[in-house]
Amino acid sequence: MEMKELKYEIFEKGALVKSVSITKIMPCMAEEGRVKLAMQLDSTLEEVMPTFAGKFPPGNVNFIPHKKILTLNTHKRVISFFPSGKIMMMNTKDPEEGIEIITEFMEKINQCYLESKNGADGEDLSGKLSKIGPLNIYNCLPQINCEECGTATCMAFSMKILSGDATLDQCKPLLKAENRDKLNSLKELLGDELMKTLGWAEN
Ligand code: SF4
Repeated sequence: MEMKELKYEIFEKGALVKSVSITKIMPCMAEEGRVKLAMQLDSTLEEVMPTFAGKFPPGNVNFIPHKKILTLNTHKRVISFFPSGKIMMMNTKDPEEGIEIITEFMEKINQCYLESKNGADGEDLSGKLSKIGPLNIYNCLPQINCEECGTATCMAFSMKILSGDATLDQCKPLLKAENRDKLNSLKELLGDELMKTLGWAEN
């Protein structure tokens, strides 16, 4: 049965996106009693998609550069963003929960748009995201398993970094002079934008 679109005005003055509509509510196959929501933003996302994709830990992101489709594993569900502004959100309690979560992302989309308009370097991370794995991060860590970051090994820490469960600034030994080369190779691997996304605050 066709449902009437539910339109939500979220931001009166959003730089790019202001409103979102729920166009379809379907049963979610992943979990009984939950729903899958199809939504539509009031703007296309093509322009901001590569920057937006770089705002999340690479382990939670699947980005298809030539199609500009971004799938995130976040908030205990999978959310896909399409260049047309369409969004699919799985495993959701009800439309209200879906709107609450999507408001957070709309804010981020508007930030990305402003960054690109204000001439931020807008690093295109699309090719990079799929190539960064735990071993790449591990190779740039001090590899002394000191546990200062609260994780038993540097390898476990690199996995947490990729999934967004830890931040780079938790590895204090990276700041020591003897690890300068490691830090530099990490910066080279990730670039400024991803370093920031993964919790590195330059001091
Ligand atoms: S603090 Fe750094 S060096 Fe120590 S275990 Fe964690 S990642 Fe490894």
